[in-house]
Amino acid sequence: MREVILCKYGEIILKGLNKANFENILLREVRRRTKAFGDFTVRYQQSTVYIEPNDEAAEEAIDAVYDQIGKIFGFAGICRAAVCEKNLESILETAVNYIPEKLAGMRTFKCESKRSDKRFPLSSPELSGEVGHALLKKMPHISVDVKNPDVVVRIEVREKAAYIHAGQDKGAGGMPLGSAGKGLLLLSGGIDSPVAGYMMMKRGMTVEAVHFESYPYTSEAAREKVLTLAHELTEYCGKLKVHVISLTHIQEVLRDNCEEDYFTLLLRRFMMRLASRTANVFECGALITGESLSQVASQTMKAMAVTEDAATVPIFRPCIGMDKEEIITISRKIGTFETSILPYEDCCTVFTPKHPRTQPELEKVMAQEEGLDIDALCNEAWATRNTVVLEQFKDPTF
Ligand code: ATP
Ligand code: MG
Repeated sequence: MREVILCKYGEIILKGLNKANFENILLREVRRRTKAFGDFTVRYQQSTVYIEPNDEAAEEAIDAVYDQIGKIFGFAGICRAAVCEKNLESILETAVNYIPEKLAGMRTFKCESKRSDKRFPLSSPELSGEVGHALLKKMPHISVDVKNPDVVVRIEVREKAAYIHAGQDKGAGGMPLGSAGKGLLLLSGGIDSPVAGYMMMKRGMTVEAVHFESYPYTSEAAREKVLTLAHELTEYCGKLKVHVISLTHIQEVLRDNCEEDYFTLLLRRFMMRLASRTANVFECGALITGESLSQVASQTMKAMAVTEDAATVPIFRPCIGMDKEEIITISRKIGTFETSILPYEDCCTVFTPKHPRTQPELEKVMAQEEGLDIDALCNEAWATRNTVVLEQFKDPTF
């Protein structure tokens, strides 16, 4: 029996004239992922993408492909379906062979049919009735419940063939990757920033990342941890470019010249300047951070306003309204949590003040910066930039 994967569009169904753009991006992404596993035909029709294995090797890879398709933003639902010829005999035979295993452990079901090929001799209710009857005969322990069934068995009579499936899984949701411009993720080694990157990818943003390190105050291992996180994010975006910039000298200058209480804020303002510059050079329209309101001293409303003042690009903070628990739940789901909790230092934790300002005044912070040659410090840090590209189906080399 031939099995295929069907993917149902999410929000893009609502799009008007530019729907084709979104569809093309989705198809490209499906093809990129299926290609890594074998020879598949990918096509779309009526808000559904069909993925069909072309040989035995591809048929065997269908579990892995299904897992990949579940990570493509833009699909609301995905399912596996048996394909058969468009005649009643073939549909019934396929249904009784394919569906029982899908209904294991269930008590009730109903059948629903859809015919986009109206030449099919049975009406949709008639077809549902026939299939339901055949399934009941095969599985006497299970019954039909049209109001509240455990599973809906769907029979779709389409252009080329009939498709039979039961139980759809949730797709990744969101908008197709690359449909919403490019953002620059400020990626630390923590829990929050990988989640922030994922959230914006989910809304269709292509993402690049910048990581600030402070070697030798931060270690080689800390950098590798961040690049590992970046590689884990490629499960969702395919490819992620990470710009690594050293803040070592800036941190030493701040330590030697500024009041300790302002230290984190001053450092974060330098991060914003350098991230804005990176965004401008690499054509990213927004910065993305993992900030969450009140999580730490530098994430109060006033502290974020002081930090943001140094940025010249809009800042997106997708975690701003989330509790840590909610962020952790996403982090576990996307597979970055275990790496995030590895105990390595971040440049933010080097020379941390004992009493950081939580309600800073911008004038006072700027007064601390008066004696600093900000442009020269930024130029010098910029010159340390080093770019690493991580790819989904390639082992990372650091
Ligand atoms: P995370 O868990 O993402 O590290 P956090 O709660 O530890 O966040 P902070 O250390 O205050 O918070 O950082 C807030 C945000 O600033 C991070 O989510 C990230 O976007 C950015 N950031 C912090 N440190 C770095 C760094 N070393 N390089 C790049 N961005 C950073
Ligand atoms: Mg952090």
